[in-house]
Amino acid sequence: MAKTILITGSTSGIGLETAKTFAAQGYNIVFNGLETNGADIARQVANEYNVGYLFSPANMMYPAEIRTMVAEAIAAFGSIEVLVNNAGMQYVAPVNEFPDDKWDAIIAVNLSAAFHATKAVWDCMKNQGYGRIINIASAHGLRASAFKGAYVAAKHGLVGFTKTIALEGAPYGITCNAICPGYVDTAIVRKQIPQQAKAHNMTEKEVIDNIFLERHAVKEFVPIELVAQTTWFLASPQAGTITGIALPVDAGWTAH
Ligand code: NAD
Repeated sequence: MAKTILITGSTSGIGLETAKTFAAQGYNIVFNGLETNGADIARQVANEYNVGYLFSPANMMYPAEIRTMVAEAIAAFGSIEVLVNNAGMQYVAPVNEFPDDKWDAIIAVNLSAAFHATKAVWDCMKNQGYGRIINIASAHGLRASAFKGAYVAAKHGLVGFTKTIALEGAPYGITCNAICPGYVDTAIVRKQIPQQAKAHNMTEKEVIDNIFLERHAVKEFVPIELVAQTTWFLASPQAGTITGIALPVDAGWTAH
């Protein structure tokens, strides 16, 4: 029987690439995301790879919506083998100008949602004696940048949560790992260019060259496929003794 993967924030960027990677291997896909055409994107991917799917528009800011999404997925497919906590958002501003509501939203979506989703899948994974939880953290889960207080705090928190769940899951065949990408060319990066330009008083090209790629030893964006393939590896049955790690996929950023 086909396995099922639930990927939050999977109608764009890294989550969407991950969905395609798992669909190509026959997984049922539970899509989620706030893109207005999310249902169409989910249907197109599922049709292309001829796999079962569900699209949930659950907003990761709200625990009740997360619980409903997980319950619907288990009702549709019988189980969830892989959970990828990937939905994320960013805001860039100096701390004294950082809007309170942006802080709260970033902590909710980038950190608390992973707790609520993990809690919601726990009994299912524990009872089946198998689970793979992969948290898409960031190099910002290991290093800081100015003007990203909420994001850096959330991603560091997500790395800590990953380790805790690795310890709790080990007796039940559940692994939990974090992936820490460097800069990947997706919407979340493109959207922050104007904010970065304002905060650093730079042109948009200077932001790409002097802020984003300056951190990378390899002066390229991290390929989106590499992040999806890393998730595939960590989700494999063979990776059962890898747990509790925060794996940089970051073009050498955290070698500094
Ligand atoms: P993206 O903007 O393309 O995708 C983000 C996804 O999250 C979208 O589908 C969006 O709808 C969803 N999302 C945002 N808020 C949501 C909410 N409240 N409820 C439900 N869904 C919500 O960006 P991406 O680069 O693919 O980001 C995916 C993850 O990778 C994020 O957690 C991000 O922090 C992380 N990451 C990205 C980079 C990068 O450089 N792109 C680097 C490191 C980590």
